[in-house]
Amino acid sequence: MVTQTRTGELAMLDEQHLLHPLFHVQAHKNAVILDRGEGVWLWDVHGTRYLDALSSLWNVNIGHGRRELAEAAAEQMSRLAFANAYTGFSNPPAIKLAARLATLTPGDLNAVFFSSGGGDANESAIKMARFYHFIRGNPEKYKVIARTDAYHGLTTASMAATGMPVYWDGFGPRAPGFFHALAPNPYRLGDGDPEACAQQALDSIEEIIQLEGAQSVAAVIAEPIQGAGGVIIPPAAYIQGLRELCDRHDMLYIADEVITGFGRTGRWFGSEHFGVQPDILSFAKGITSGYVPLGGIVISKRIQETLAAQPVERKWMHAYTYSAHPTACAVGLANLDVMEREGLVVNAARMGDRLSSELREVADLPMVGDARSLGLLGRIEVVADKATARPFEPSQAVGNRIVAALRERGVITRNRNDVVCLAPPLCINPDELDFLFGALRESILTVAKDL
Ligand code: PMP
Repeated sequence: MVTQTRTGELAMLDEQHLLHPLFHVQAHKNAVILDRGEGVWLWDVHGTRYLDALSSLWNVNIGHGRRELAEAAAEQMSRLAFANAYTGFSNPPAIKLAARLATLTPGDLNAVFFSSGGGDANESAIKMARFYHFIRGNPEKYKVIARTDAYHGLTTASMAATGMPVYWDGFGPRAPGFFHALAPNPYRLGDGDPEACAQQALDSIEEIIQLEGAQSVAAVIAEPIQGAGGVIIPPAAYIQGLRELCDRHDMLYIADEVITGFGRTGRWFGSEHFGVQPDILSFAKGITSGYVPLGGIVISKRIQETLAAQPVERKWMHAYTYSAHPTACAVGLANLDVMEREGLVVNAARMGDRLSSELREVADLPMVGDARSLGLLGRIEVVADKATARPFEPSQAVGNRIVAALRERGVITRNRNDVVCLAPPLCINPDELDFLFGALRESILTVAKDL
């Protein structure tokens, strides 16, 4: 625990000097200053304990406080903290991690380019898709179809792919060539009929293709399950239809598995639930469980071979200083070791079943319009009228209040508008899930009573 004076001083210095993501200083009053973590638990500088119901930012998959990862970082840093991986240089942790990812990821995904996080992974994915068409003689095939409610990061291209206008305002013209189709939200589309929902969302993509012309569209980028947009779990027919659509129009399917990768859904990758192999898979977060920054893309053999078949002067001129960072990759390897040794993907599936059945009961509580999950990725949407699914006006206030009530009961998570999101660490046990659900029930009932 940090002493009282030091705590006050920290809060003051935070306010004066630290600019936070998605920031206004007035919104940052009474910030929780976190000090340490162990498993699913976090402690703030006052010693207050919280259950980390979102794995921090959907990323601390193996849980907090793992010495093994700290030791892997220390060992690699002492040996060789950094080495560049530009053409002509490489390093053992990056090589080993790339080879391991080629085995773990679905189908013939085979070659890895590393970034430092998710947004820059998606930049790389988009530039890879465009370059692929360019070298095949289709330089005009550069447009990208994303979806409403998508979150792909906030760098320039990934921000343009992100389908939530709240992230666009005030930053000048958005990068051109990005389009947004309807999100495949079974709670909002298709009257509860999964086939109809899938069809409406696929038709929306098809419409953009008709308008823009397939010869101009390079790729569709999609999170297998939309995360930050409110944990939108699509019908399987949708993702399968997406794959078919991409094949039909010679477009690449980029699966943004930044949240759904590394066991989150009870399988190694979310795409596996739908039996679909993307052409490019982007990842970040769970690859190191957030212990150090790392992300990247894995590309199919077809794309890899197309790159290799070019004359040597025609390089993919994309790079980051920290691509294939040896320390980050050593931590990634140690993280995968923990996941495999402790069977955390299987645990996520098992605890995910429990989460699903608990959520079926939560669905009966007042205000709850929709509650569902896949693996350890869940959503609880509250609405003004359960019978008609009429949303609260304005949105977000009730979601905010539930999240605040949860925090008072020792649970940290986030909401998107009136959807409360859940994504606890994959090592969660039944007692910890019970704690989470106790707090959740109480919070929903308390907020409902006060409305
Ligand atoms: N893609 C998805 C699906 C994400 O959820 C996120 C972050 N929440 C990103 C990309 C962006 O990752 P980063 O914040 O590391 O740039």
